[in-house]
Amino acid sequence: MNTNQELILTGDRTTGQLHLGHYVGSLRSRVELQETYKTYILLADVQALTTHYDQPELIANSVHQVTLDYLAVGIDPNKTTLFIQSMIPEIAELTVIFSMFVTVNTLRHNPTIKTEARDRGYTDLYYGFLGYPVSQAADIAFCKATLVPAGEDQIPHVETARKLVRRFNELYAPVFPEPRILTGERLGGLDGIGKMSKSMGNAISLNATPDDVKAKLTKAKTDPARIHRSDPGHPDICPVYAYHQLFRSIYADDIHASCSQGKIGCTDCKQLAGGAINELLEPFRERRNYYEQRENEVKEMLIEGTRQARNTAKETMLEVREAMGIRYFDV
Ligand code: SF4
Repeated sequence: MNTNQELILTGDRTTGQLHLGHYVGSLRSRVELQETYKTYILLADVQALTTHYDQPELIANSVHQVTLDYLAVGIDPNKTTLFIQSMIPEIAELTVIFSMFVTVNTLRHNPTIKTEARDRGYTDLYYGFLGYPVSQAADIAFCKATLVPAGEDQIPHVETARKLVRRFNELYAPVFPEPRILTGERLGGLDGIGKMSKSMGNAISLNATPDDVKAKLTKAKTDPARIHRSDPGHPDICPVYAYHQLFRSIYADDIHASCSQGKIGCTDCKQLAGGAINELLEPFRERRNYYEQRENEVKEMLIEGTRQARNTAKETMLEVREAMGIRYFDV
């Protein structure tokens, strides 16, 4: 039962299936938080357009796949409102209103926007891409969310949301609460370079088969100093050791010692990490399989969640219009 008065808003861009990095960074805490908080999770298909506008089929398919990922990890539609962003036009309306209170330069200087633009090789920015934080502010505000569980890269966006709702409240009337971010852990990718990410190709999908997991780990980067089994290693710079710490934590100290003293080979070490990851993923596979057989049930869940979110959005937009003095008449 939801006993807490605070409301959580979180979600994911629907640009492909979710992976272990999403699980560690946010999904596992969502599963816990839904027990005590009213939780809204949005399938951010409009925000997916900011980088994948030329791949509508991928976005639509990902809405389905990400929904299955959520259900597989234990998001319970009886406790959480799951909804599709593009089906709530009031979010787009609120995005337009919020866009009046933020300058182009503020958005240009947003560190997450800057990093992503650089990584994607953008020399000029699309209006929608630059406006991503404004759209996210509207996602958070339409349901009056107070907590946003997300990765560290989302901190600047939530800060923008805080400024926008504060500005609205000062200008018109106190309609919106100021949201706070709850940051999750960051999981490194298999390449040992950056965080686990779909676009970097260094991720393990949540629906990976046991063989996929094994194959991915076989290719994972390790400490380059370890050429022979007896070479002393540096587990702290090895992504596989990070997986031991997260998914096999009670044995992590043993692995650290064995690696440092050259008493375990990387192949064996990877096998142990892979086994632990497969153990974690097994119940997800079973739940996913269950829901894959029940397409209509999943669709009904999404329709119901989207209906609930839409009703909330309509109520909020009436308040917004009242506050701004632009509720001329009802149509
Ligand atoms: S033994 Fe394990 S922790 Fe050490 S370098 Fe190899 S894979 Fe990494």
